[in-house]
Amino acid sequence: MTTQKSIRIYIKDNLAVARDVNLPSDKSHYLCNVMRCKTGDNIVCFNEKDGEFCATIVKIDKKCTIIQPQKQTRCPNNEADVWLLFAPLKKDNTDFVIEKSTELGVSKIIPVITHFTNCDKVKTERFVVQSIEAAEQCERLSIPQIETAKKLKDVLADWDSKRTLFFMNERRATDNIVTVFNECKNKSVALLVGPEGGFSDEEARFIASFPFVKNVSLGPRILRAETAVVSALAVWQAVKGDWN
Ligand code: SAH
Repeated sequence: MTTQKSIRIYIKDNLAVARDVNLPSDKSHYLCNVMRCKTGDNIVCFNEKDGEFCATIVKIDKKCTIIQPQKQTRCPNNEADVWLLFAPLKKDNTDFVIEKSTELGVSKIIPVITHFTNCDKVKTERFVVQSIEAAEQCERLSIPQIETAKKLKDVLADWDSKRTLFFMNERRATDNIVTVFNECKNKSVALLVGPEGGFSDEEARFIASFPFVKNVSLGPRILRAETAVVSALAVWQAVKGDWN
């Protein structure tokens, strides 16, 4: 019997010691055909409500895989509450944003359509698969909630004003990111990053007009959107998030 320590899979179903779990076909295919697991092998399984378990494969074949959690190795914990609003980019760069923002602990991702967003079809079901793979790899206990793409103005119109929205305002903000983040008393926040073409002047004024919005500068250089996402999230986690 080998212990496949590196295999860690997200399972939505309830997890509990000694309770068999019948894996969905994609996970069954992965363990059986990709990772060539055998009955008796050990893997790690997790979800945000039950935590993480070491589990044994009790049955595995092309059609069906059953695992049985043996021991809880981590309890559920409420991970950082930081949302990301981003304007979908060209495919590879969007893939990068989903993967890196998941690794950096976002709790929700909202793709927003802005004036200069140049991406018509937004396949959020792809984002879900990508974010689960990233969560499995980075050993999170949760996966980000992925919303369907919405017009930015509609998202702002429905915004819960208790949640601060940090507006990465590329050519207009001068407020130092660490100062702005430190001023933020509550922990529920969101970051807004624009598309390759940035925000239009009219759009930037509209966004900045909301009381819950804080302009934030990411320094004197114009970063690519995907660079801005990683930079802003890294600073947030270091200053006020779960890196400290
Ligand atoms: N093409 C635009 C830049 C877009 S950069 C122009 O030349 O003005 C893509 C997004 O990254 C921006 O909308 C902004 O949200 C973020 N960003 C990039 N550099 C930034 C900076 N120095 N400060 C704040 N946000 C920045």
